[in-house]
Amino acid sequence: MKKHIAILTTLVLLLGGMPAFAGNGSAAANEDGIDYLALVNKLHPLPEGWEEALETVMITNSVGDEVEVEAQAYAAYLSLKTDLEENDGIYLELDSARRSVAAQQDIMNRFIEKYGADYAAKTVATPGYSEHHTGLALDLYFKIKNGDGTFTDVYYNEDMTRPEYEELWAKVHAKLADYGFILRYLPDKEYITGYGYEPWHIRYIGDADLAREITAQPGKTLEVWLGAATDANAAVDYGTSELYTRDELEEAAVQVKCRFASFAGCELHTLRYAGDECNTEENIAWMNQLDEGKGYVQAAEFISDFHSPVQPGEETAWEPDTEYTDWQWWLARTADGGWQLLTWGYR
Ligand SMILES: [Zn+2]
Repeated sequence: MKKHIAILTTLVLLLGGMPAFAGNGSAAANEDGIDYLALVNKLHPLPEGWEEALETVMITNSVGDEVEVEAQAYAAYLSLKTDLEENDGIYLELDSARRSVAAQQDIMNRFIEKYGADYAAKTVATPGYSEHHTGLALDLYFKIKNGDGTFTDVYYNEDMTRPEYEELWAKVHAKLADYGFILRYLPDKEYITGYGYEPWHIRYIGDADLAREITAQPGKTLEVWLGAATDANAAVDYGTSELYTRDELEEAAVQVKCRFASFAGCELHTLRYAGDECNTEENIAWMNQLDEGKGYVQAAEFISDFHSPVQPGEETAWEPDTEYTDWQWWLARTADGGWQLLTWGYR
């Protein structure tokens, strides 16, 4: 078990030395109100004091649901909506916007009660780590005007993503920046944002000029623009596995890549599945020691080579301009198939 101690030491060192989010915004709520550039994702929780500083409005949408939105974001949304109606004949509606941390915890508790902790952890966003907590993330849907002047709601994700609506979304997306919004979960950027493409999820960042600056760079995510992540996708070598399907390994690799993206300035060169021999009794027992009470049943290891920045930030533990080879990533798997990235580093 000696190797595990060594890895843990590395992990602690890295976590201690990991660059805290430091970008163009201060990522905190203060007495002047909220920071419209705050980053909230699976790695960055809602800043402290946010809910106290937040000012919201409540509206009722076309299907009768109450929706709560941050006040300034709502005003900007109304301008966007009016523009699209008058100039493009597109009728936007708000599906959901703000969810409090407490509400998210309620959802989590209900899922735990009904389906068990493993399934809940896999299905429900961790309370505190959803962008919807900010009140600045808006999920859109739209209404289609019928020949007789009535409207039909296009509400479900599987309907909104039908190819016939691609052009409609393109028109919506083209106008977001002018009102201070960005499209948040871009196509093919799951390895940074943690989410697949969502044409309906937009984020208010408070400033049209900044939104235009981000939007002008195709594929630029908020994480990368804020300096909290590096866009360094690498092809993954999944090798062969008798234990895991390709989809399962891809899910695991996304977790690794999202975490890697937060290694500011580092460039990922290779990422490979270590092979089924990583799934030993000893390793599974180690995972259950690292994260007690989860009942992990399987283990998976990925290995990567990456390069550290020429000038690492002051608070990072990287040797400057160095190729780190055979760096390990360990994931544990629950009985119902959820992956958890538990640790990374060297033996
Ligand atoms: Zn959303």
